Amino acid sequence: MKVSSFKHGSHPAEFKEYTEHKTLEPLPIPEEVFIPVIQHIGAPCKPVVKVGDEVKTGQLIAESTGFVSSNIHSSITGKVKKIGDFPHPNGTKSPMIQIVAEGDEEWVKVHDHTEPWGEMSVEQLKKIIADAGIVGMGGAAFPTNVKVSPPRDKKIETFIINGCECEPYLTADHRMMVEQAKEMIEGTQILMKILDVEKAFIGIESNKPDAIEIMQKSTEHLPGITIIPLKVKYPQGAEKMLIKAVNKREVPAGSLPMDVGCVVNNVGTAIAVYEAVVKKIPSINRIVTVTGDAVTEPKNVIARIGTPFSKLIEFCGGLKPDTKKILMGGPMMGVAQYSLDVPVVKATSGILCLTKKSVPYREEFTCIVCGRCVHACPMFLVPTRIARAVEAGKFEMADELGIMNCIECGSCAYECPSNIPLVQRIRIGKNKIREMKNKKS
Ligand code: SF4
Ligand code: SF4
Repeated sequence: MKVSSFKHGSHPAEFKEYTEHKTLEPLPIPEEVFIPVIQHIGAPCKPVVKVGDEVKTGQLIAESTGFVSSNIHSSITGKVKKIGDFPHPNGTKSPMIQIVAEGDEEWVKVHDHTEPWGEMSVEQLKKIIADAGIVGMGGAAFPTNVKVSPPRDKKIETFIINGCECEPYLTADHRMMVEQAKEMIEGTQILMKILDVEKAFIGIESNKPDAIEIMQKSTEHLPGITIIPLKVKYPQGAEKMLIKAVNKREVPAGSLPMDVGCVVNNVGTAIAVYEAVVKKIPSINRIVTVTGDAVTEPKNVIARIGTPFSKLIEFCGGLKPDTKKILMGGPMMGVAQYSLDVPVVKATSGILCLTKKSVPYREEFTCIVCGRCVHACPMFLVPTRIARAVEAGKFEMADELGIMNCIECGSCAYECPSNIPLVQRIRIGKNKIREMKNKKS
């Protein structure tokens, strides 16, 4: 099998075996949900319900407040108990709508069109996607209706579905491709119509041969869709790396994929588009891989947005006594969690639970100038110099060294034999530079 890829990158151990063959299991409807009013890149939403209101599943509860923003819907049928600050997986306390389940489940549809999507206009389809609150399910959570609306001067020629799932441990996208192939392909066709492209590519890392086979079979009668097997290399699923691997185009530093005529959407996003347009269901579910050596029975779970992490872990048999660390996402780009009360949000691809054995103490040593971080960096940066500039408070120098082009993939830190937390330092530097630039403007 011929496989494509990009230059540099790293090869962390995959650990997919915990869940790659586990079929999707729906979590029972939770007794209560905590739904954040911000789950996306962009402006927070404004609640349109108040305490005491009865809500149905799929009902709009917080509406977008800007072009880059995304609607939020109730994921259960019940009553609004509180609107206030609760722990968010991003580490802050954030405004959320707490809903307690009551009565039998009743649904509100996201639209009432009766015609098939092939007869709808592009504007109708984009409105459904916006109304349904669909955001990029690959982790970035950028509103999809904005992503598929490039300015007129940016003609899109290449549409790519990202089926890489290169983060170790995570298998939610893999299982979606295996179990929801029909829905994913139809979602891809809807997106192709919106973007006015004749061709789409589905990039899948070659460690998912069953997904590649199913996708190839599902698209053999569709000449516009091509399956591209990709080398197993991290971060193959980063947009710029995926574009390079699929159609050899470079997205220059500071540019967007649309600047080189490309749009990339995730597998889960294509399925969410299908569900909104064909089934009339807004974005209220999320497929989450609950995995790692600290969880009793790792699974791929279909969870309602707003369900506390504790409920998913309970559904997977609970945590082992020597649990040391919990992350939202994978080990390379995931965010450490300090409470299991935090809810599943649209960007929750996984809950990774690790024991002490998997999170050994790593003493930091001085840089031995081995160059491994430089060789690993897919953005061709010099991570060691950037991190040193940040440590010395030389933020302008870090900026000149291209810190803002870092995609925070973590390959540099993973490769460093001196255990220097390079990506963590770079993240601090990026935040500081953003702050400095905001103050100036
Ligand atoms: S500098 Fe940034 S982009 Fe480069 S390897 Fe490190 S985290 Fe990844
Ligand atoms: S990998 Fe670590 S030790 Fe090697 S050059 Fe980079 S920072 Fe220094």
